[in-house]
Amino acid sequence: MAGRTVSHRETHRHERVGWLRAGVLGANDGIVSTTSLMIGVAASNASRGAILVAGIAGVVAGAASMALGEYVSVSSQRDTERADIARETLELEASPEHELEELTEIYVARGVSRASAEDVATQLMAADAIGAHLRDELGIFEHTRARPTQASVVSALAFAVGSGIPVAVMALFGDNASASARIITSAIVALVMLVALGALGAKLGGAKPTRAATRVVVGGAIAMAASALVGSLLGTAVA
Ligand SMILES: [Zn+2]
Repeated sequence: MAGRTVSHRETHRHERVGWLRAGVLGANDGIVSTTSLMIGVAASNASRGAILVAGIAGVVAGAASMALGEYVSVSSQRDTERADIARETLELEASPEHELEELTEIYVARGVSRASAEDVATQLMAADAIGAHLRDELGIFEHTRARPTQASVVSALAFAVGSGIPVAVMALFGDNASASARIITSAIVALVMLVALGALGAKLGGAKPTRAATRVVVGGAIAMAASALVGSLLGTAVA
């Protein structure tokens, strides 16, 4: 029973991986891209209105792009899985003996004795032949199957939330606020959000929080600094 409890808990962690990855990716992307976009516009000494229009356009464009990108990429992953399953089903029908031997060899390679491996393979194939082959030969598990719609919706919503907060913060500034006040405040808010998100993502996924947070903060800081530089250069050049 103790063993069952442990494996049950691990399963839950794996189940979260698909949408967790999509959600964290979407939110990170929303924070970094929209804050950088607004910082770039603010650095050109643009008006409050121009900065906010850029930010809101960034939220909409980014969420739509995330939804589409995730849908396309996870769909192609799902197509690959489906093709693997179809091929495996055909092989099981055409040459069950060969498939039994294949499964047996997989267990032998994992350290099980020949006799036990054959026994386990026979019993598993009697119970659920395709399921046994998908799991142990192809590494396809029901809870890790590709889900394009779920990935698409989760990442778009996460992007909208991640990018909406920096836009709301930017909206708090009045017409007369200086470009540097807008830039510094936005950058700090974005970095704090990135740290919190990196730590949360790592905790949910069971990884080390500091490492994940450091990566995303350094990356985000570089993106915002580059946008500020380009915005101020363009602002000077255009004006
Ligand atoms: Zn097989």
